[in-house]
Amino acid sequence: MVAPPPPLTRPRAPGVPRGRRKDHMTDFSTLGLDGRLVDAVKAAGYTKPTPIQTQAIPLATQGRDVLGLAQTGTGKTAAFGLPLVQALLEANKRPQPKSVRALVLAPTRELANQIADTMKPYVAGTPIRVGVVVGGQSLNRQANMLSRGLDLLVATPGRLIDLMDRGAVDLGQTRFLVLDEADQMLDMGFIHALRRIAPKLGTPRQTMLFSATMPKEMESLAATYLTNPARVQVNPPGIAADKVEQEMWWVPQADKADRLKELLAENLGARSLVFARTKHGAERLMKGLVKAGFDAASIHGNKSQGQRDRALKGFREGTVTVLVATDVAARGIDVPEVAFVYNFDLPNVPENYVHRIGRTARAGRDGRAISLVAHEEAGLLRDIQKVMGTQVPVMGGEAPRGPIPKTTPNGRAGSKQGKPGGRSRGPQKGGAPKGAKPKADAPKGQPPKKPSRAKRPRVRQKAA
Ligand code: AMP
Repeated sequence: MVAPPPPLTRPRAPGVPRGRRKDHMTDFSTLGLDGRLVDAVKAAGYTKPTPIQTQAIPLATQGRDVLGLAQTGTGKTAAFGLPLVQALLEANKRPQPKSVRALVLAPTRELANQIADTMKPYVAGTPIRVGVVVGGQSLNRQANMLSRGLDLLVATPGRLIDLMDRGAVDLGQTRFLVLDEADQMLDMGFIHALRRIAPKLGTPRQTMLFSATMPKEMESLAATYLTNPARVQVNPPGIAADKVEQEMWWVPQADKADRLKELLAENLGARSLVFARTKHGAERLMKGLVKAGFDAASIHGNKSQGQRDRALKGFREGTVTVLVATDVAARGIDVPEVAFVYNFDLPNVPENYVHRIGRTARAGRDGRAISLVAHEEAGLLRDIQKVMGTQVPVMGGEAPRGPIPKTTPNGRAGSKQGKPGGRSRGPQKGGAPKGAKPKADAPKGQPPKKPSRAKRPRVRQKAA
């Protein structure tokens, strides 16, 4: 537990009392931000704060710890980033060699880079220096960058620990901590990393935690690392963005690749993000799609940083129209043009379904999320629907009969599965024929005849 930071003095908009709820406010200049930052967001093209910004910025600029429940795409980076920059400007200190004044931890390299890119316009014209340390890049170069000290460091936990172990970074002067996409980091064994990082941080400290979902472990994480946090929330946890049109098809695992190709061909050229559960499954699927003539690329933990960056750049620019990704690698990716999200495999962690489908219907656009579900995945589907509190409409295919096999207690190990990622044979015949009539019924479920061993999700500290 940390003591609350001293109150910070903030310039206020005339007539706006400190600490009042500002839900009715629609302008950045009314949120208690420094004029330079108001100008910077306007220059970035933002005219109005998003709901999470309207709620979080006034609290954060008062120095409160913040527990934010918001998905990527809601504008949460600015919600914590603007108050951070403001606090750093006000403290008006220079970082000591090797030290860092504010730390943002993010689960993946892509998200860390994206956060740093988002922050750049906010700090332009100020003395504040922002740096990123993520895996897959030269440790020496990162140690060198840190040797001069940084105002704001965005890091993935694994790489930060590598640098701490080398004595390349000193967190004793770090008075601001942001844990972004904390639920995803929890799934990656982040709690172990945080236990090593947190005791090295300076106190008093302001901590902000942002998460798209609020599993039980998050509450205890928040209770441990946040002090009397103000809660802000823009979507109830687990509820998918209203604008995403969801559907699912029952498809035997062995037929999924062909079915996916049919669906992609129906919407040729539309930006499609395809989720596979494993790195190998994602790679195999991508190769099959390329062979079939699709402009596909993949992004997962077995790819080098350069390959990941190129795939993402191609996808952003539209030269790649189908990006096959694992959950971890795709985390936080913000590509507004994504029109379709395909779940080639259902995720083992039900909350990840919400993250996945949140990659579409962004920036005011419409989006569709299409899941190809094998009978072996009926238990996972049930868990997902439970988390969301809604049923995903079934568009076709043969629903399983009989009881649905149980998933493990917290749903994280998944039900007994056929091998995900494309090769295993589903026990039933008959896929979802193109143009099959929609069925409104929910799955009844049937245990797989020859289930392979259930897999626990891998617990890792490094970004995938
Ligand atoms: P984030 O949730 O931080 O990943 O942001 C999602 C997207 O919304 C990014 O492309 C931001 O540039 C954009 N964004 C953030 N704040 C605003 C705003 N107030 N108005 C318009 N777009 C915004």
